[in-house]
Amino acid sequence: MKMKPLSSDLPRREFLTRAALALAAGATLPAAFGADNDPAAAGERPLIVSTWDFGKASNDAALKVLLGGGTILDAVEQGIWVTESAGIGTVGLSGTPNAAGVVQLDACIMSGPGHTAGSVAALEGIRHPISAARRVMEKTPHVMLVGEGARMFALEEGLESIETHAAEHYEAWQKQRAKLKAAAQDPKATPKNHDTLALLVLGADGNIAGGCSTSGLGHKLPGRVGDSPIIGSGLYVDNEVGAAGATGLGENVMRFCGSFLVVEYMRQGLHPQAACQEAIRRIIKQERPGKQLSLNFVALDKQGRHGAATSEGQFPYSVTSKTDSRVQPGARI
Ligand code: ASP
Repeated sequence: MKMKPLSSDLPRREFLTRAALALAAGATLPAAFGADNDPAAAGERPLIVSTWDFGKASNDAALKVLLGGGTILDAVEQGIWVTESAGIGTVGLSGTPNAAGVVQLDACIMSGPGHTAGSVAALEGIRHPISAARRVMEKTPHVMLVGEGARMFALEEGLESIETHAAEHYEAWQKQRAKLKAAAQDPKATPKNHDTLALLVLGADGNIAGGCSTSGLGHKLPGRVGDSPIIGSGLYVDNEVGAAGATGLGENVMRFCGSFLVVEYMRQGLHPQAACQEAIRRIIKQERPGKQLSLNFVALDKQGRHGAATSEGQFPYSVTSKTDSRVQPGARI
């Protein structure tokens, strides 16, 4: 479906402001204001986008849920189940353990209608943290539960649990710390084994929801929480505008409320692609030149336009509609 150029809805001065912003973000005008040269399935509904190539299997499952009459939240939750169970080593209980040898999981979910959200962090031994997050949203007056409290809640809710914790892990962590100190390694050094599934769904009725799930940074300090379960950092959904999700080094995303920032750029009129790029540029501007930031954003707007961008390397993202399901490259800054 071809979308009406946004420019025709706007007073001239506002249009020019948006055009300037879009160009500053490195976008070409057609990419920023129309869907003519959008990539796969732009403008279609329902539409699902997610981070990385492994997101495609989750997208496909989410589409099936929608076509079977499920809600956008069902699609987010059940789509994410697929990657949480896939054994990819960075999402779900197959994730890399923390420095104490324990896998601690982070997840969140957000619904555009009602602007509701739920999240869990440092959750141990629960097979589907995304389901725990959804239950926090739907069954408690809270937005976020962490650690043992989150685990007790998930167990009370009857979510599947798997024993992963062992007391000896603490000793292993102490030994590792001692070794790091002895080797005088940078205590702030961050390991590389990490990824997040962030999945965004635009329903046939134009409503939006999203979720994300990760085991966070491999060998992180016990209790470390990344961007993924923080609403506005790893994920943000605004039913009037669109949604965005993040993957990469959480510490660099959460200091800038990354996903919220991307959605705000879309609110100002930027195409999702340009919004992702502009958010990364803004973060880069405030960081030490040359610093490796590992920032990746994916975004989807109400019109079914989508995009993704990365600060370095490659960032494939997955796009799925009724007519197409594919992995395509995000833009490199
Ligand atoms: N953002 C996640 C975290 O920092 C990891 C990732 O997406 O690569 O926990």
